[in-house]
Amino acid sequence: MNATRQQTEQELVFEMIEVVEVSHAESCSAMDIERVVCDKDPATLGDSGCLAMLSPSHRIVITIDGPAGTGKSSVARALARQLGLDFLDTGAMYRAAAAICIDNKIDLADKAAVVARTAAADLHFDWTRDPPTILAHGQPIDHRIRHKDVTEVVSPLASIKELREHMVRKQRIIGQQHPRLVTEGRDQGSVVFPDAAVKFYLDASPDVRARRRAEQMVAMGSAADLGTITAEILERDRSDSSRTDGPLMCPSDAICVDTSDLNFQQVVDALHRHVLAVVGR
Ligand code: C5P
Repeated sequence: MNATRQQTEQELVFEMIEVVEVSHAESCSAMDIERVVCDKDPATLGDSGCLAMLSPSHRIVITIDGPAGTGKSSVARALARQLGLDFLDTGAMYRAAAAICIDNKIDLADKAAVVARTAAADLHFDWTRDPPTILAHGQPIDHRIRHKDVTEVVSPLASIKELREHMVRKQRIIGQQHPRLVTEGRDQGSVVFPDAAVKFYLDASPDVRARRRAEQMVAMGSAADLGTITAEILERDRSDSSRTDGPLMCPSDAICVDTSDLNFQQVVDALHRHVLAVVGR
């Protein structure tokens, strides 16, 4: 890449980041907007809920964080659909980075190489798809990111500070371009969108999470060993919550939902009710 082009690209990135920061600082909070618009009892709202009353230009970000196997992705996607919001799976971004590095034989201990290779892949989503498909080098990579070799290395890779900074920047830009968003991951409420209108933290016992994962794998025709899955989940919990940057944690202002004894629809309904209650406050 020649120097002029590199400079232009860097300027563009910084320009976009600046737009994000200015807009974060200057915008009034989504809660303020909602309080003005939605002054009704949520129980009296119809199926479309209060959010339909907001103009599409109003910002509302809902974050869902939690450990592996709590069903965050499916719940976030269903909630987004019910509320008419966009859906962002940030785990897909870290998984895509891992897949790209494995497939390009990058030494995963070489942090600079991991970040450079990921940045060069220009990760972004095709928002015309439901759920949005993650692209690397302009090509879909979603078929690759759930493979075992990716799952095995994604958490250590996600502890690389510079990689997280890269992802956080991208996620905030996405938040600007899709200001009506349900986003799920590990650090969405704590780091990426601290001013989110509603924050959730989903949890469940390791046994329940492992059983759900095993059922998913069997449904997809793969063999599933409960002991191995439990060990993998516990190791990922340990790695995700012990890193210095963007550790898995329940934000102090999040609504914690233990999903151990709830089925999928009960979780979605519980979150939906919470959103309407907050929006209607
Ligand atoms: O959610 P999912 O299991 O697809 O995430 C894969 C991994 O990506 C997690 O175990 C975690 O290490 C990393 N991740 C992260 N921060 C996020 C989303 C995912 O560190 N916001």
